[in-house]
Amino acid sequence: MDFDFDADQQAFIAEVRVFLNEVRQWPDAAEIMCPERESDSILADTPARKAFNRELAKRGYLGLSWPREYGGQERPGIYEYLLNEELSRVGAPLIGKGVGCVGQTLISHGSEKLKQEFLPKILRAEIEFALGYSEPHAGSDLAALKLKAERVDGGWRLNGQKMFTTSAHFADWYWLAARTDFEAPKHKGISLFLVPMDQPGITIHPIETMGEHVTNQVFIDDVFVGDDYLVGEVDRGWTYICEALDYERFTFYTFSPLEEKLKALKETLRNTRRDGDRVIDVPHVRRRMARLIAEVETSKMLQRRVIYAASLGRVPTVEAAMCKLYSTGLHQRLADFALDALGPEGLLHKADHAAPAAGKWEWSYRATALDTIGAGTSEIQKNIIARRELELPLTN
Ligand SMILES: Cc1cc2nc3c(=O)[nH]c(=O)nc-3n(C[C@H](O)[C@H](O)[C@H](O)COP(=O)(O)OP(=O)(O)OC[C@H]3O[C@@H](n4cnc5c(N)ncnc54)[C@H](O)[C@@H]3O)c2cc1C
Repeated sequence: MDFDFDADQQAFIAEVRVFLNEVRQWPDAAEIMCPERESDSILADTPARKAFNRELAKRGYLGLSWPREYGGQERPGIYEYLLNEELSRVGAPLIGKGVGCVGQTLISHGSEKLKQEFLPKILRAEIEFALGYSEPHAGSDLAALKLKAERVDGGWRLNGQKMFTTSAHFADWYWLAARTDFEAPKHKGISLFLVPMDQPGITIHPIETMGEHVTNQVFIDDVFVGDDYLVGEVDRGWTYICEALDYERFTFYTFSPLEEKLKALKETLRNTRRDGDRVIDVPHVRRRMARLIAEVETSKMLQRRVIYAASLGRVPTVEAAMCKLYSTGLHQRLADFALDALGPEGLLHKADHAAPAAGKWEWSYRATALDTIGAGTSEIQKNIIARRELELPLTN
């Protein structure tokens, strides 16, 4: 069986690689492409990384799957996935939420005004968004969110708190879910708004996680949003959030970082000696490496199943849940094994010059926990598999 990409897709991958090789010559290439970065390597969070995204835009890599009437190329979504694979392989920022959930939702449901204001800026990579969904008591059960939007003359007044908003500290606009009807069933009273991140009444407090991912607590006090900045129809926000998740299921989780990490781990174990022997030659290390190699291949196949299901026009909910559950766990198993194999020195922080592999594995050990939580925890993925694949009853 041939699981590989077709000739046109392979040519696209080759073209992206040529472009990335050019970027390697840029003076700030080391900041743009940092595969050793274990946290936030997908974000355009510095001027150099933003400039890189503008170059992606200039070369026509943004909006690949968007309709032509909005400046897109109407290519199948797989090209966006392939682009993200190549970007994440070298630790460069991905094409992001603008062309993903924000742009796709505006194209499907946004007013003419919002389309004209935001879509061209997204295609030129001139604008960054933060997604404000989670709250202190609404994460896995997102529909329980309570941020209040009250009807006032000409718009809405927003009050409440968001949690874990990635990118809030450098984004320009907030893609914000709020409750517009407190009487309706919880999935039915939610609306989406676009709010400038620097609007008075928005206070951002950073949360530094153990993996060095910086996320934010955001307080919203009496923030006015005009009617024009309501996305789509009032109280339909839950439907838009779920649709947007479906667009991203197969562009968000890329496989190449696992493949690259496996190579890096082999390299580390080859170059590290304990009691005179190379660590890679120790029998129990070789046994576990063999198993990890097989697991990385399994992860690749799970990713291919997601792509295949999506290419048939199906929403790959179960396939994506299996892939996320397995792959994020595998990132953790790789780091865990690396620390076991490296012994006490493996625990040295990257700031310590004596740290093996420049402290990559110690950082990886701390950082890989985050992906088992963000975008749906491992338990939630198991619930999806239990309900949709095994048809087991769930109480919630
Ligand atoms: C790196 C990172 C980036 C993030 N970025 C953003 C962002 O940009 N915007 C945003 O809005 N949010 C973001 N989040 C928040 C993320 O979506 C939530 O953390 C996640 O959905 C879990 O919600 P919670 O933290 O409230 O935990 P809870 O939902 O309270 O869960 C706590 C524990 O209970 C378990 N649990 C909960 N419900 C069930 C159930 N039904 N069955 C079994 N077990 C269950 C969970 O698995 C978990 O172990 C981010 C999180 C991380 C880690």
